[in-house]
Amino acid sequence: MKCNLCIRNCNIDRDESLGFCHANNNIKIAKYMLYHYEEPCISGVKGSGAIFFSNCNLKCIYCQNYEISLEEYGKEITVEEFSNICLELQDMGALNINLITPGHYALKIKEGLILAKKKGLTIPIVYNTNSYENVDTIKKLAGIIDIYLPDFKYYDDKLAIKYSSAPGYMENAKMVIAEMYKQVRNPIIEKGIMKKGVIVRHLMLPTLTEDSKNIINYLYKTYGNNIYVSIMNQYTPMKHFDDDILNKTITKEEYECIIDYAYDLGIRNCFVQDDETAKKSFIPNFKE
Ligand code: SF4
Repeated sequence: MKCNLCIRNCNIDRDESLGFCHANNNIKIAKYMLYHYEEPCISGVKGSGAIFFSNCNLKCIYCQNYEISLEEYGKEITVEEFSNICLELQDMGALNINLITPGHYALKIKEGLILAKKKGLTIPIVYNTNSYENVDTIKKLAGIIDIYLPDFKYYDDKLAIKYSSAPGYMENAKMVIAEMYKQVRNPIIEKGIMKKGVIVRHLMLPTLTEDSKNIINYLYKTYGNNIYVSIMNQYTPMKHFDDDILNKTITKEEYECIIDYAYDLGIRNCFVQDDETAKKSFIPNFKE
């Protein structure tokens, strides 16, 4: 089958050649673990059952998970093994299965989830994505995914091209988020833990506050408070690149400006991060 899972539309058979993401037809993962650094309604106290997938269909020059996304660290597993990992995470007490950057394996993951559910998986499934899939890929996940956690990285296509080699990012993100909302609708939160809904994440980048405002304005005008917005200040410059915008963290003033902007618009379903977040490392050690 030719791969057109994301808007790169490589249209190649991944058993015979590799497309932009360099993934073949097997699921490849770098790590799975109980993870405590997502939004509180996802991590809770027990932790989210995170599965970190290797490779990526974006090429963000500032990627904090570059060891697995760009350097492609990880190991290939079968659909059966994937289903067993989901069950193992459930047995470890995970509140959900948190699929981190799953887009380039979406249909194999779907197979694995269907199998895991047959074998007793009952916890919610979180689809934690960069939003560069084709809308048709997201449509194929209807009824399987309970919580969508899409990024909205850029509004300005020039930034998407410069920093992630991702033309058409903004228009596509709008379409996939619309499909996600159509599937799961308004949030359901029980005892502080999300069971269904959409949380759109925006990682702020230094000095690019106008772009952040455009994203937040779009989300509020389109969805009001029927989705959650998570505004993140944790951007950390990585040592392996040099860029005069991206070589610093965001300032307290920049972050507060965007939080105030969101509040003044009327956004109330919003997650924010404390001052310390940008100083801490939430990046797992993938190779330990
Ligand atoms: S997932 Fe996207 S980047 Fe990867 S081969 Fe398919 S179309 Fe290309």
